[in-house]
Amino acid sequence: MHRFAETRPRLEDYWRSVILFGRNVATFKFALGASLLELSDLGMEFVTLEDLASPFSRHLCEHLKLADRQGTSPRSRFLDTCRAHNRGEVSTDELVTITARMGFVNVIDAFHVVGPGPVPVRFYVDERKTKGGIRLTENLERLRERFQYQNLPHEVEARWRLVETAWDLNMPRHALAVDVDEANRILVVHTHEHGRRDITGCREALNGYQKGTCFYCSAPITTDQQGLRPAHVDHFLPHTLKTQGFGRRNLDGIWNLVLACVDCNLKKSARVPALPLLERLHTRNEFLISSHHPLRETLMSQTGTTEFERRAYLQQTHADATMLLIHQWQPTLEEEPTW
Ligand SMILES: [Zn+2]
Repeated sequence: MHRFAETRPRLEDYWRSVILFGRNVATFKFALGASLLELSDLGMEFVTLEDLASPFSRHLCEHLKLADRQGTSPRSRFLDTCRAHNRGEVSTDELVTITARMGFVNVIDAFHVVGPGPVPVRFYVDERKTKGGIRLTENLERLRERFQYQNLPHEVEARWRLVETAWDLNMPRHALAVDVDEANRILVVHTHEHGRRDITGCREALNGYQKGTCFYCSAPITTDQQGLRPAHVDHFLPHTLKTQGFGRRNLDGIWNLVLACVDCNLKKSARVPALPLLERLHTRNEFLISSHHPLRETLMSQTGTTEFERRAYLQQTHADATMLLIHQWQPTLEEEPTW
């Protein structure tokens, strides 16, 4: 079990560990995740493969328009059918029939597996052999009642965009660096060949790795800027340091960006977070490392290839920042940290 879901896990943390961690050989897991959330919203319990095929293939067809590579293997007859549908050569009915027959090989079995085994909570039960479909569990229904539920579809989408963009660019792994745009809103990648490519929202991409809580005070947050507790993108080490000889250290890098509630974002201002929060940043960054392609490579190029190096980098940078800015800051905790 990944450390992410070991520390005080809640229902949404199991969901997140399925979506956010682990290596991917194809994006079918994301299509299934997005479909499960959609079908659960419709109040469905038993889902035939045809019922499932409809949102599943629709999501994949939409994503094929954004990135033609949706897997690491060079050929997939199922994906070719989706492409043919996008070209208008296969009707929606045909697509659904073919998806029900060929689209779910492995993915229904593999969905709950993270690392060496399945997560201890199931969001559906496989009843294909006896009833020709899957049964959505109470866990999925309970998930819908959680505050974090509103963030989950956006997190699936953001993780999907990261993976497919990385494959689509087809660059050597070490050369791929994900940046954040000037306004800290979206993740982008700059390449010689393709110029700038926008990937996905910065908040949507980072929120799940903080378990949907403010980095500093652990209050629940949401990626929805009109929502009840909107997340702000915050520089852990203040960006004012850029004018004080910190230019070299890329303070706009993902390693230094966290999501905070409005309150902490305001109160912290241009102060350096206290030492226990540095340990927390290290943990968050290691979560990003274990999300694999492509944030792993980005974090490594920014802070070091081994955990030892990354920890040392953070400690040194934090010490230098404290020398310059002097004042440290720590919030009163709103809730017990969940990671
Ligand atoms: Zn806060």
